[in-house]
Amino acid sequence: MKNGLLKVLLAEDVAADAELCIDALEKAGFSVCADVCSRAEDFEQLIGATAYDVVLADYNLKDWTGIQAVEIVQRLGKNIPVIVVTGNLGDEKAVDCIHQGAADYVLKDRLSRLPSAVRRAIDENVLRRQSHVLAAALFSVKDGVLIAKAAPNLLNAQIISLNEAFSKITGYPSEELIGKHLSFFRTTGAGDEFFAGNEAKLSNLDVTETLDKRKDGSVYNAEWQISPIRNGPGGISHYVVIHRDITDRKRTAAELAETNEKLLRYSEELQFAKGHAEAATRAKSEFLACMSHEIRTPMNAIIAMADLLSDTQLTAEQSKYVEVFQRCGENLMVLINQLLDISKIEAGKLDLEQLDFDLNAVLAKTIALFESRAHAKGLSLSFQVGGNTPTRLIGDQHQLQQVLTNLIGNAIKFTEEGSVMVEASLGDTLSESDCFIEFKVSDTGVGIPDDKIAVIFEDFSQADSSITRQYGGTGLGLAISRALVERMNGSITVKSEVGVGSTFRFSANFRLQPGCTQTQFESAPRRILLCEDSPDNAFVVGAYLAGTNYALEHVVNGKAGLDKFKSEAFDLVLMDMQMPVLDGHTATRRIRLWEADHNRRPTPILALTAHAQKEEVKRCEACGCTAFLSKPIRKATLLAALARHLGRTTPAPDQSDVPPEVQELVPGYLKQRDLDLEKLRMAIEESDYPAISTLGHQLKGSGTSYGFDEFSEIGSALERAAKTHDLEETRRQVELLAGAVSEAVAVRLVTREK
Ligand code: ADP
Repeated sequence: MKNGLLKVLLAEDVAADAELCIDALEKAGFSVCADVCSRAEDFEQLIGATAYDVVLADYNLKDWTGIQAVEIVQRLGKNIPVIVVTGNLGDEKAVDCIHQGAADYVLKDRLSRLPSAVRRAIDENVLRRQSHVLAAALFSVKDGVLIAKAAPNLLNAQIISLNEAFSKITGYPSEELIGKHLSFFRTTGAGDEFFAGNEAKLSNLDVTETLDKRKDGSVYNAEWQISPIRNGPGGISHYVVIHRDITDRKRTAAELAETNEKLLRYSEELQFAKGHAEAATRAKSEFLACMSHEIRTPMNAIIAMADLLSDTQLTAEQSKYVEVFQRCGENLMVLINQLLDISKIEAGKLDLEQLDFDLNAVLAKTIALFESRAHAKGLSLSFQVGGNTPTRLIGDQHQLQQVLTNLIGNAIKFTEEGSVMVEASLGDTLSESDCFIEFKVSDTGVGIPDDKIAVIFEDFSQADSSITRQYGGTGLGLAISRALVERMNGSITVKSEVGVGSTFRFSANFRLQPGCTQTQFESAPRRILLCEDSPDNAFVVGAYLAGTNYALEHVVNGKAGLDKFKSEAFDLVLMDMQMPVLDGHTATRRIRLWEADHNRRPTPILALTAHAQKEEVKRCEACGCTAFLSKPIRKATLLAALARHLGRTTPAPDQSDVPPEVQELVPGYLKQRDLDLEKLRMAIEESDYPAISTLGHQLKGSGTSYGFDEFSEIGSALERAAKTHDLEETRRQVELLAGAVSEAVAVRLVTREK
C-alpha cells in the first residue's frame, strides 16, 4: 500500500457487487484504486502485470471460481492475499477456501467486515514475508541452528525446526530430530552439566564446548550456544540452539600452541648457544691477540737477525737463503699483524682515534707507498679528490689508511695491466661539521666472479684458490677492511666483472675540523703560484690539481712571478729554476727579501728542477727554497708535497708505543737522518745502489722503533728501488724522507713550545 492508496483487483461479474465492495472499503477510509475483471484470462493477465495489495474474488463466477483465482495467484508466485467474497458459503467450502490458500472470506451481506479483513490480510502478508526472510537467513548460515519449543525443563524442550547445517554437523537428518526433546543430545555428547543451566545461564549466551559423537559414531569438537526467545516478561516460548563443529579450530589452536612452545624452547636454546659462542669467540680472540703479540716479538728478532745477516759478507747461495728468511719472515709478520687486527676487532678492543688529519696527505702518503710496486708492473696509479670534498678532517687516519692500503694493495696485486684509480668525494652530510666521505678504488684487473662476491668479505675467504696461490694473501684483508669501515659508521661494497676489473667503494664518517665547514672549504681553496716557462709542464701541473682544493695561478717567468707574489696572497709557490727574464733562483731570493722587508712569514717555495745533483739542491736551499721536487713530477709526489707544506694540522707521528727512554733519543735519531739524506743524495749522484739499499734497509729497521712508521715505509721503498736500479724512484723517496724528517722536527718543536 503506497501513499495510502489501496490497489485492489476484483474478480466479479456483477458490476453492482463490485461497486458495493469498493464503497465498503472507501467508507472505512481506504483510498481505493480498483481493477475489475470477470474472466479468468483477464484476471491472470492483470495479476501478472500489476502489484496489487489485495485480491477480492467472488466465489461463484461465470465460468470459474474464487478458488481458481487463489490458484492463479499462487501459480504466478505472487505474494498477494486473496479474500473470497461470496453470497453464501457453506462451512465446508469456507474451510476449503482457507485450505487452498485464501487469506479470508467475507459474505456479501456482511460487507462491513471487508475493511478489517483486508487490513488483517495485508498485515499478515507483510509479517509472513518478514519471517520468511528471517527463516531463510537463519537456515542458510554455516552454523547449525535448531529451534525448540520451550518446556518447564530445558531437557524437555521439543525440537520443531533445524537447518541443513545442523544435520550436516551431527549427521542426523531433520526428520530424525524434529519432535525429539533436547535431552536427545545427552546421548551424543552434551552432558548433564550442559543442560543443568538455569535460565540465568541461558540468557547470558554462554558458549559450551563438548566432545560430541555424530550419528556414524565419529567424534568432533563441538560448541553449543542456547538462547531463549521470550514472549513477554518472564515467559519463554522457544529456544534457539546454535551448534558448531570446532574440530579444525581446536586443532589449529593446539598446533599453534605447540609451535609457540617449540619456538620458545628453540629461542632459549639459541640464546644459550649464542652466549656460549660469544664467550668462546671472545676467549679465542683474546688468545689470538695474546699469541700474535707473543709471536711478533721473537719474529721481529728473527727478521732483524736475518737483516743483519744479509749485511754481512755472504756467498751468493747464502744470500739466497737469507732472502728466503726475510721474505717469509715479512709474510709471516703481515699475517700475524692481520690476525692481531682481526682478533682485536672481534674482541671489541679496536679503539678509534679522533685526531685532526688532512685527507689529501693520507691519500698521497698511501699512494706513494704503492707507486714503485705499480710502476714495476707497468700500471698507472693515481688519485683524485672531488672538488667540494672537505679535507681537514677529524677521525682515525690510521684506520682509514689501513683500509685504503688493503684495497689499493689488492687492486695492484690482481691487476696485470691498465690502471688503479683512487677517488674520494663528499658523501652524505649529517651536519655542518659531520659528513661521510665516499672512497672508490677501481682497477682493470682479473675481476671477481659473481658467486664469490658475497664471500670475499668473510674471514679467510678468497675468490679463487688457484688465483690466490698465484698471488698469495691470507683472505683477511677485506674482512678487516669491512670491520674497520663499519667502525667508522660506513659500509663497503664491490662491483666487479671478470676480465674487466673491480671497483670497491666504501664510506666513512668524519667530523670537520673547526673552521672548516664545507661551505668555507668551497669558498677558500689554497692558492698556488706556479712560475713555469714550459707550457707542457704547466699543463701537467694544472691537470694534476684539477678537482682538488688548490687554485693555481700560472706565470711564465720569475719576474712575472715576483710581481704577482707581491700583489696577491699565495699559500705556496712552485718555482721552476730555469726561466727566461728572471730565473727561479733570483726570483726566490727576491721573494724572501720582500717577505723580510714586509715582516711576512716565509711562504713555502718548492723548487722544480730537472737537475737532481747535490750542487743544485744546495743552490736551491741557499736561495731560500723550502723543498725540492725533481722533474718529471708525479701527481702523488706533488700532492704529497703540497699536503705536507700546506697542511696546517700535520699530526704528530704516533709515538704512544715508544718507551720514554727511546723517546729521549729521538732528537739525535732525527739528526742522524739528516746525515742519511746527505749520504743518499751522494749515493744517487754516484748511482751507488748498494749504499742506497743499506741506508734504506737501516731506515726500514729503525723507523718504527722510534715511532716513525713513515721512515720505515720509505726505507723499504728505497731498498726496493735500489734492487731494481730505479734512480727516479730513489730520488722521489729521498724527497719524501726529507719532507718527513723536517716535518718530524717541526712537530717536535711545536710540541716543545706548547
Ligand atoms: P687476500 O689477502 O687473499 O688478498 P683479501 O681479504 O684482501 O685477502 O681478499 C680476498 C679475496 O678477494 C682475494 O683473495 C681475491 O680473490 C679477491 N679480491 C680482492 N680484491 C680484489 C681485486 N681488486 N681484484 C680481484 N680480486 C680481488
